[in-house]
Amino acid sequence: MNAAPKNLRQLSDLSDAGLVDPDKRVALERVAAQYAVAITPAMAGLIDATDPHDPIARQFVPDPAELDVRPEESADPIGDHLHSPLAGIVHRYPDRALLKLTTVCAVYCRFCFRREMIGPSAKPLTPRQLDAALGYIAAHPEIWEVILTGGDPLLLSARRLKQVMARLAAIDHVKVVRVHTRIPVVEPSRITAELVRALRAKSKATYVVLHANHARELTGEARAACARLIDAGIPMLSQSVLLAGVNDDAATLGALMRTLVECRIKPYYLHHADLAPGTAHLRTSIERGQDLMRQLRGRLSGLCQPSYVLDIPGGHGKSPIGPSYLTRNETGGVLVEDFNGVQHCYPPKT
Ligand code: SF4
Repeated sequence: MNAAPKNLRQLSDLSDAGLVDPDKRVALERVAAQYAVAITPAMAGLIDATDPHDPIARQFVPDPAELDVRPEESADPIGDHLHSPLAGIVHRYPDRALLKLTTVCAVYCRFCFRREMIGPSAKPLTPRQLDAALGYIAAHPEIWEVILTGGDPLLLSARRLKQVMARLAAIDHVKVVRVHTRIPVVEPSRITAELVRALRAKSKATYVVLHANHARELTGEARAACARLIDAGIPMLSQSVLLAGVNDDAATLGALMRTLVECRIKPYYLHHADLAPGTAHLRTSIERGQDLMRQLRGRLSGLCQPSYVLDIPGGHGKSPIGPSYLTRNETGGVLVEDFNGVQHCYPPKT
């Protein structure tokens, strides 16, 4: 009998799978000593090991370029720590708070903005810290929405998720629970009926936001996992990261957005890649991102348009950074650009 495919967590596993160049082994040992490595069978199975530019490999297989840390990069690129009143909570915006339930992920993305805070060696939230974090949410009536994140919250057992959801359900002012996860694509078998039931909190709206960066990630199994969530009444949105060599061309990005919509997942955010250490080789310029957004606007349905956003370094929150289609003219009206790049006058209000 064949053994079940295993998660690739060691460089030797990656070597055995033909995913790393033996000549780069010394540099990769240094990368792996610094940043966690894991590739699930679902993702490893998508990689074409003969393609040096494979977009799935680029997201998960460590690269010696990660040793190149730039001065502008930071261990906390979006300023989580500045807005963390206690372990497990980030309260950056008035009406919502992050609850970081775990520090582990099924895969470790090479561009991860929390790469210095997550991984098997990071400290998970203790039961006492979880009590305190839930107490903080209960004591802040302005918190309307709680975002479960991590690490990946859907690595928790259905039993533990159900407990957390029940405790959030008991907080009257929390109306929405949003779950940020990569699990439906990287380990779709975890999306069981029991886990789906656990995510439904009484009298709260649960949304699941899927992190996916390439249409190939939406395999048949991944689509079925998403359908299990959506059919149970859990709406899904997506977030993607604009990544050099992965999805930074209009055809690839457009195919991703269309595939998501075909799976009944509304594209929500396209993130400009954060200034995480050792990730310069995966970042594009903002100008490139704006150009891609213009190209998407021309060729894809409005349903397929995400908001292109930047998390401003230093903890200042997200801002939309997509292209502007308006220019003011000398009469006080505006010129509006259409999807072909042609400008039209719109008169001032009389
Ligand atoms: S799944 Fe999310 S938190 Fe985990 S490594 Fe990838 S980007 Fe980071």
